[in-house]
Amino acid sequence: MSNSKIWLSSPHMGGGEIKYVNKAFDTNWIAPLGPNVQGFEKDLEKYLSENVHIGALSSGTAALHLGLILLGVKSGDEVICQSMTFSASANPILYQGAVPVFVDSELDTWNICPVALEKAILDRIRKGKKPKAIIAVHLYGMPYKIDEIHAIADKYEIAILEDSAEALGSHYKNKKCGTFGQIAALSFNGNKIITTSGGGAIVAQNEDLKNKAIFLSTQARDNAPHYQHSEIGFNYRMSNICAGIGRGQMEVLDAHIKLRRDMHDFYAQYFADIDGITILKEPSQDYYSNHWLSAIVIDPGKIGKNRENLRLAFELENIESRPLWKPMHLQPVFEKYPYYGEKVSELLFQNGLCLPSGSNLMEEDRLRIKNVLNTFFQK
Ligand SMILES: *Cc1c(COP(=O)(O)O)cnc(C)c1O
Repeated sequence: MSNSKIWLSSPHMGGGEIKYVNKAFDTNWIAPLGPNVQGFEKDLEKYLSENVHIGALSSGTAALHLGLILLGVKSGDEVICQSMTFSASANPILYQGAVPVFVDSELDTWNICPVALEKAILDRIRKGKKPKAIIAVHLYGMPYKIDEIHAIADKYEIAILEDSAEALGSHYKNKKCGTFGQIAALSFNGNKIITTSGGGAIVAQNEDLKNKAIFLSTQARDNAPHYQHSEIGFNYRMSNICAGIGRGQMEVLDAHIKLRRDMHDFYAQYFADIDGITILKEPSQDYYSNHWLSAIVIDPGKIGKNRENLRLAFELENIESRPLWKPMHLQPVFEKYPYYGEKVSELLFQNGLCLPSGSNLMEEDRLRIKNVLNTFFQK
């Protein structure tokens, strides 16, 4: 058996990408913008439906940053953010000179906890400032508790910036992730469910917001023959080459989601009879996860070994696995900011591990993964 590296999640081309990229070369649309960008945006709008308006950008981080600007977040404002997430969810708050307020996760979806969220809002209001926005994340493709979280946001009239970077193709009550927030962000980074080598998109509920995002992403150029600016702009637009890759990836998105979900089923079956392993799974039929990454929590008391032991066992066999996202309130760069919650995200981080989940994993890869698990769990 070959010992080549098994990655957590690596790019998986469908084959159609190159025709769009070649077309860009053939027509000399190498510059940013061009027909692939509009085509990719239309493909995404059609896929998400719900009448959303999409602007393709250079990254998911750029989408989150512009999202905060569109929601009016300014220097000194407070923004609530799910603590357990990738740093790119929280960094744009600081780009705006705003203050992050971190909130714990709950155990069903591992996403932002409704109870801790409401506590945080009430306490911030009591301290004199109502938060300007809430950044909620669908971690590993699992929708957050949409009904509960949006009911709270509505009650206090706070906008939600939906970080759907990991959740393209997931849905809740048959409505796609990325269509719930006032603004949402998608990512097409190399490790995501589809990739444009690097890229992202902003999803807006109306055309004006989308146009404003595109205006800001192309250096905020006023309508004039010379370069005229009355606002600060950014260079955040997606290139026509990258969008070509994206168009090809859209052709295989649903097939790749099925393969990711198959990987999840493989693990779910494997761990079904092991007491002490919890796998992240849909809490009810309302939830549909793209299972971007399959992830487990190990109870070291029951298993007798911890998640680091398993990670190292994989590493010895050249298989990548990775601890869950380290909560932002524990990160040196963010630890001085307020945090509301118990120790849910801390315990998930301590005991959680993401397993190889790519849509390109073959039977042979599963066999190697299974061999490591069999030795580890003495099965
Ligand atoms: C990947 C990711 C982002 C950032 O997307 P980029 O395209 O890499 O900038 C933001 N939030 C979460 C949760 C992510 O996983």
